[in-house]
Amino acid sequence: MSEQNKNDRAAWLQGPAAECLIPEAQANPWRLVLLGAPGVGKGTQADLLHQRLGACHLSTGDVFRAATRTDCSPSPAMKEALEYMRRGALVPDATVWEMVRERSSCFRCRGGFVLDGFPRTLAQAESLKQLLDDEKLPLAAVVNYELPLHEIVDRLSGRRTCEKCKAVFHVTGQPSQSGDFCDRCGGRLFQREDDRPESVTVRMDAYERSTAPLIQFYRDLGLLMPIAADGSPEKIFARTLTALEARLNWKADLAS
Ligand code: AMP
Repeated sequence: MSEQNKNDRAAWLQGPAAECLIPEAQANPWRLVLLGAPGVGKGTQADLLHQRLGACHLSTGDVFRAATRTDCSPSPAMKEALEYMRRGALVPDATVWEMVRERSSCFRCRGGFVLDGFPRTLAQAESLKQLLDDEKLPLAAVVNYELPLHEIVDRLSGRRTCEKCKAVFHVTGQPSQSGDFCDRCGGRLFQREDDRPESVTVRMDAYERSTAPLIQFYRDLGLLMPIAADGSPEKIFARTLTALEARLNWKADLAS
């Protein structure tokens, strides 16, 4: 898959008026949800899953961040959403759902999808379930990345993101060999506003209160797949693939 293809999520990031580069069709498109506290590495795993399985990486956080960079001025609802994001608080369900619903064609993507950062509340999970049930697009699994709290806080505060290609590094765990610049594309690395200590506390509270209950929701639906999220991204990814193989026995797809 080319770099350009890898990074194209135009309809998701810019809204339904934008046209995506057509992804490769998958015989059995993977439809996954990634759960886990902020900083547990969902974005990195979603990217790796995308590269391996061809499924489109759909991150609601990326939509909000893309809105901060666009030339046109954001709508009042989006402006309000960005204010929540800056504080590390959850954006209200109605705003998030409106944004996701108008991008729902992405759920029919012929490459499949990996949802990252959505759903984050029971209301969002119920809305998503209704939509996917109506469209007959069953989820293959919900991967729950598990890590102790203190390790998560360390990951978040040391995380650095490339402003160009969005590659993620860690100041000690996975430093860029190019210092303050990205190894992949040379872009400048920055610390996300919501990775600063005051926002991290708010985000962890929001996770405990609103997102952790989703674990039981998806367990009850028989979709939950717990994965230990310690170790390198490659190790976590290997665990994820093994568990997906065991769960669905789609070894032929994974080996290609
Ligand atoms: P993330 O990159 O997934 O950590 O998201 C960054 C921020 O965007 C979060 O801290 C929230 O402020 C906001 N956000 C992203 N997705 C959601 C969601 N599904 N529900 C509410 N807020 C969200």
